[in-house]
Amino acid sequence: MPDAMVAASRSEATRGSTTQPVDVAVVGAGFAGLHLLHRLRKAGFATVVLEEADDVGGTWYWNRYPGARCDIQSIDYSYSFDPELERAWKWSEKYATQPEILRYLGFVADRYDLRRDIRFGTRITAATWDQDAEHWRLTTNHGETVSCRTYIMATGCLSAPKPPEIDGVKDFKGEVYFTGRWPHQEVKFTGKRVAVIGTGSSGIQAIPLIAEQAAHLTVFQRTPSFALPAQNGVAPADRVALLEGDRASYREQARWSLTGVPYPQQTAVSWQLSDAERRERFDEAWAKGDLVYILTQLWADQGVDVDGNALLAELIREKIRATVKDPETAAALSPHDHPFGAKRPCLDSNYYATYNRSNVTLVNLRQEPITSITASGINTEKRRFDVDVIVFATGFDAMTGAIMAVHPITGRGGRSLSEVWADGPQTYLGLTVAGFLNLFMITGPGSPSVLSNMAVSIEQHVDWVVDRLIAMREAGFTTIEATETAQAGWARHMADCATLTLHRLANTWYTGANVPGKARGVMPYTGGVGPYRSICNEVVSHDMLGFKLSGPNVAEQCNDGEIVRLQPDVRLVLNMLADMKLPPLESFGAKGARDFLAEFNAARPAGRPVGEVVEGTLPGNDGPLPYLLYRPATPGPHPIVVYFHGGGWVLGDQQSDDPFCRDLCRRSGMIFVSVGYRHAPEHRFPTAAEDGYAATRWIAEHAAELGGRPGAVMVAGWSAGANIAAVTCQLARDRGGPQISGQLLVCPVTDCSFDRASYNDNATGYFLTRSLMYWFWDLYCSPADRTDPRVSPLRGKLEGLPQALVATCEFDPLRDEGVAYADALAAAGVPVEQLNARGHFHSSLTMVDVVITGVSGRVQMAEALRRFAGLAAENSQGYEDVRAGRTASPHQIASAAE
Ligand code: NAP
Repeated sequence: MPDAMVAASRSEATRGSTTQPVDVAVVGAGFAGLHLLHRLRKAGFATVVLEEADDVGGTWYWNRYPGARCDIQSIDYSYSFDPELERAWKWSEKYATQPEILRYLGFVADRYDLRRDIRFGTRITAATWDQDAEHWRLTTNHGETVSCRTYIMATGCLSAPKPPEIDGVKDFKGEVYFTGRWPHQEVKFTGKRVAVIGTGSSGIQAIPLIAEQAAHLTVFQRTPSFALPAQNGVAPADRVALLEGDRASYREQARWSLTGVPYPQQTAVSWQLSDAERRERFDEAWAKGDLVYILTQLWADQGVDVDGNALLAELIREKIRATVKDPETAAALSPHDHPFGAKRPCLDSNYYATYNRSNVTLVNLRQEPITSITASGINTEKRRFDVDVIVFATGFDAMTGAIMAVHPITGRGGRSLSEVWADGPQTYLGLTVAGFLNLFMITGPGSPSVLSNMAVSIEQHVDWVVDRLIAMREAGFTTIEATETAQAGWARHMADCATLTLHRLANTWYTGANVPGKARGVMPYTGGVGPYRSICNEVVSHDMLGFKLSGPNVAEQCNDGEIVRLQPDVRLVLNMLADMKLPPLESFGAKGARDFLAEFNAARPAGRPVGEVVEGTLPGNDGPLPYLLYRPATPGPHPIVVYFHGGGWVLGDQQSDDPFCRDLCRRSGMIFVSVGYRHAPEHRFPTAAEDGYAATRWIAEHAAELGGRPGAVMVAGWSAGANIAAVTCQLARDRGGPQISGQLLVCPVTDCSFDRASYNDNATGYFLTRSLMYWFWDLYCSPADRTDPRVSPLRGKLEGLPQALVATCEFDPLRDEGVAYADALAAAGVPVEQLNARGHFHSSLTMVDVVITGVSGRVQMAEALRRFAGLAAENSQGYEDVRAGRTASPHQIASAAE
């Protein structure tokens, strides 16, 4: 018997004939609800859509304010599930107006005969999971109920308008409008004194048009937004040609892109471009009028790095100053308190120029906050403004507001969603919530949603959910529920992704900061549309990882676990390497592996500028050794760190960890001398160790000549280089110098034993494999020599060694020997700090600007070096400090941003 009939027989008997039994109830008839209804019906699910408005359209039904348009190009902001539909509809403009988008959604509803299953004017007042019946019971504002096995919230991210939180709104005797609930009849502003409160996307679109009509317009701005000219008109010929040239491929590229719009990934970084080149790129982007383009195509670091971002932000502020004639108004309109893109940037038509009109006044609420609204207007701390009309463009209780508006939603065990989300929304994939069986959200918190082309994200979610319902039906499962483990893992992955971008540095509706009392945290998934899609696919291919499935006649299925344990950028790097299907590095032979590494390094982004980089040679034990000296731009003399590169004693050279050396040189304010020690198999054990020691001694003796601070030096290294650094400390202690004040050991080789768990757990799949390590050992050191402390420092005497920071990575075969060394140092009385980098692999911390989530680890390293050198720690206060290069942990940044 189909689900709906089972439901009918149960619920009608118990609850009376006002209950509508269906398989699936969908709330909302916007982009998501319409597509859901179409797909669910085609799949044979009895479906009803419940919609509060009296027609389809969702956000485009409610937001009818003057100037309302999409700000993703219309050719991208469209359904792609049916090529026939694509052919049947042609947009008239690059960015369609609200009426045109509403017509489109009406056209879609008619084309697939959707309205007959939509109950308009129907609001859900409560939703309760009935565990015995395995059904949701939805109560509506009309008193009727709907009984459904699956309940899907397609309520949109920006559909619950936020109250303006200003005293006296109700006292105002003039006209009041909310952009998010605009009346259907035309609103006339002619001859009126109008106030607009709010300068987000809605205000910025409406202000120029209201200004054209009003006798006087006063704009009340609390925080200025970054806005770019839409340059609207016909759709750009190049984009249309791309789409029409190969529609299927264009759409597919969009599905796998980061934003849901098919632009390539930008690789050039800001510091590789000259001022003129950056300006040229910026001017081109400005002329294009395309948010996604400017957010992704200028330089790769602008969305992830405060310095790269600040360059772009300043270019935009320059445009504002060039457009707005009154310098004070221009200054007030120029955002300084958040990185570009961290708060939703806007597309405008004539916005900044509107402030040159004589009938427009900007009130900077940062200087004179609103104190109250009265019968006749608005009072600030300094002035009184009498107005006839107030337009509230004050935004939404975003992402969670519309979901929580159904209250209560009661899941398993009688727990309500508002209880479960009291400290912020928790979801698995942004689609489901543990404890709420058979409940799905389309673009819920945790989905790429508002950071993507919504049309693409919605289609992905709809397809994924409907495909799961079909698969469950085929397998005989009747319930699905996310596990707590999976949900907690998703929260961690979300947080990891959020450290990648700059969204955490702004107080925005993305983080819940616009609603007083709302829990704070970056709510949308910041890891990108394509990665998100691949994760959802992986959940399925791993037997619905993180879901419990049950049914009356089948065994319960639960493959519990976390879907992403790697850091997001590590996952991308490893997937990219896996896609390259490279043969094992050891199969190239030593020369081939060296050539490969050189080529691989050449393709990586260049390291950042430092004060200067000097090439030199120093006398080694058997002839000169090359070195590279990285000097900070700050006045010296600086403490010196002697650095040894990684490469298994076989590969690499003084240049191969260049980005890492530059990064630590900048962060610590110290000279880094990267030493080119001799390699195996030409020079076997103990050459590398003895070269390392000899180089350190020479550098310490010549510190002043090198421009460094005389006295103790520090040593640092990565992988086999960390092995050399550790050994150098032991040799220096035993051979009477040089004086070493600290050792930084990053993923060190410390022992010749291969039976620790990490050697097995991470034997393959994380670039440095167990067999590659065997190969390195074989080339460098015969089995008889391996227990010598000059290659296995863990077997040496550890008392009296310099203080240390030992960094290890979770997915590294060398993890456990690094931890063992740190533990052994501590046991020997050496002050030691451990950095266990969760979700990272062997190369993570040195892959500067590729593995951005390694930043906090490098910050910790720089702090440790400063401590070793007896220098003061650096403190960060907030965004301006971050922008000025004073770094902080993500936690510090978040709290400072608040
Ligand atoms: P918004 O971006 O949240 O902007 C609300 C504005 O109102 C902000 O300037 C805010 O200042 C201000 N505000 C809120 N409460 C206030 C108060 N009590 N006193 C003074 N000012 C107050 O909302 P929105 O403009 O409606 O846009 C929301 C999102 O919808 C956009 O970011 C975008 O994603 C989407 N949208 C898209 C389009 C489009 O596609 N073209 C158009 C409209 C909206 P603070 O910043 O200081 O809080």
